[in-house]
Amino acid sequence: MDSDAVVVGGGIGGLSAALALHRHGWRVTVLERAPELREVGAGLSLMANAVRALDALGLGPALRRSGHAEAPGGIRNRHGRWLSRVDATEMVRQLGTTALGVHRATLHRTLREALPASSLHTDAAVERVKSGPDRAEVRFRRQDGVHSLSADLVVGADGLRSRVRAQLWPHHAGPVYAGSTTWRAAIAFPDPVPAAISWGRGAEFGMVPIGDGQLYWYGALNAPPGGHAPDELTALREHFGDWHDPIPALLAATPPDVVLRNDIHYLPVPLPSYVRGRVALLGDAAHAMTPNLGQGAGQAIEDAVVLGAVCAGGAEGLPAALAAYDEQRRPRSQAVARASLTAGRFGQQLHHPLAVAMRDTALRLTPGRVALRSMARYADWRPPAG
Ligand SMILES: Cc1cc2nc3c(=O)[nH]c(=O)nc-3n(C[C@H](O)[C@H](O)[C@H](O)COP(=O)(O)OP(=O)(O)OC[C@H]3O[C@@H](n4cnc5c(N)ncnc54)[C@H](O)[C@@H]3O)c2cc1C
Repeated sequence: MDSDAVVVGGGIGGLSAALALHRHGWRVTVLERAPELREVGAGLSLMANAVRALDALGLGPALRRSGHAEAPGGIRNRHGRWLSRVDATEMVRQLGTTALGVHRATLHRTLREALPASSLHTDAAVERVKSGPDRAEVRFRRQDGVHSLSADLVVGADGLRSRVRAQLWPHHAGPVYAGSTTWRAAIAFPDPVPAAISWGRGAEFGMVPIGDGQLYWYGALNAPPGGHAPDELTALREHFGDWHDPIPALLAATPPDVVLRNDIHYLPVPLPSYVRGRVALLGDAAHAMTPNLGQGAGQAIEDAVVLGAVCAGGAEGLPAALAAYDEQRRPRSQAVARASLTAGRFGQQLHHPLAVAMRDTALRLTPGRVALRSMARYADWRPPAG
């Protein structure tokens, strides 16, 4: 008999998990509560580890064609002075692949198209998940009523405010506000621009070419939670309009209705396990992190590849396979989450003028190879063999 899995959530993590299991012969059902399967948001940086994980899913070549291989970039101050530069050639030599800038919608569509259409179900909001010794049960609501499914494995890939996590780890503290808000957009901007970030006081602006003449930019600021402006683009210009070129030009080229604003939340308390019985958590549901290292989606895709690899033998021996998943994924993803938080505190969130000046000087004095080593630390990951 086929081994079967239900994946809760059709985001980047859920679709990656579905694809990884499907490639290892599992019958997969994805339940997504939204009426349509799509990815909201602008662009993404996929670090070398994420690109390798996508290679393991068979999608690397297509994404390299549609995305943009990140060219030399680095960190600047708000006036455009380089504080640290990345030697892209050396980075590729060390990591074996470039990082990629992609449109989120492109990544999501590429994952979706690699799965059988019959496995994808929208308008299916999971309300309850229960794990027994041999099977797990999922109850979900559709417009026509409440349904149930039972499966060998349930994957909770339902994001930051995961219902699966809340039900199976009821005492876990859940997400909190990280202290920063972000604006993002993907725009047409054919002029060449390096993938780079710029730091001010409690502020960061990033730009990433994502292929096909498009560019993804974001601005991040320390701010109280829940803020909204009647016109977000005007609010953004007040903060970043006098930063270095081409930031004013990017804002000028942005239609107001494509700007997204989101507060940043993360899980401050690491989960004690990503597995309970026949249920495994993955992606933001397991380890929602701040975006400062550009690793959240990358870690979700890594989770998916490892889950597929440990489950390659099917449902037989699943408890041991899931224990191996937890052992391989939890320490690494939680370390990346901690490092991302630290990177944000030292980078985007640093506000005191003296501290900012000291940081900028320290960065300028750091030899390129040391900066590269620290950037490569989490990007140097290889998928399991086989
Ligand atoms: C500003 C910002 C910038 C970022 N930049 C980067 C970057 O450059 N690189 C990078 O790697 N990462 C980045 N990230 C992180 C990345 O976006 C996330 O880590 C990633 O999208 C998580 O994917 P996921 O599938 O785990 O969760 P989600 O994308 O949240 O998907 C969860 C899915 O589950 C569905 N769902 C929820 N509840 C239910 C339910 N009860 N029943 C059924 N379906 C349900 C939701 O509708 C959603 O479709 C960034 C994040 C932010 C906020």
